Amino acid sequence: MSDCIFCKIVAGQLPCGKVYEDEDVLAFHDIHPFARVHFLIIPKQHIATLDDCTPAHEKLLGKMLLLAPRLAKEQGLDSGFKTLINTGRGGGQEVFHIHVHVFGGGDPVSRS
Ligand code: 5GP
Ligand code: ZN
Repeated sequence: MSDCIFCKIVAGQLPCGKVYEDEDVLAFHDIHPFARVHFLIIPKQHIATLDDCTPAHEKLLGKMLLLAPRLAKEQGLDSGFKTLINTGRGGGQEVFHIHVHVFGGGDPVSRS
């Protein structure tokens, strides 16, 4: 998707603070964190929303979810974390390339 910001990140056309990458998945720090640690796990293939997923995406979705605890621990969230998938306009989704928010650790560090 040429006009998708997360596809541009996957393609290396936009920078990101990379947390993890493999052949299927990319994880990177959210540009506007709402916790001390806040990163996104996305598939490399463009899927707009959770509502667009089919049984064909079962393995990919499972991989994304199973990465959450592993990467959260690597980012220092030893005592737990939150996950969030916003779906559709009514669900507060702003970027229409499916992503799992993983966050925790209290307030973000002031960036002023
Ligand atoms: P949504 O509301 O769609 O679930 O969340 C989209 C998230 O993507 C937001 O938390 C927003 O801060 C983050 N975001 C939007 N554009 C960029 C970007 O260019 N780079 C990074 N790293 N995060 C982004
Ligand atoms: Zn995309």
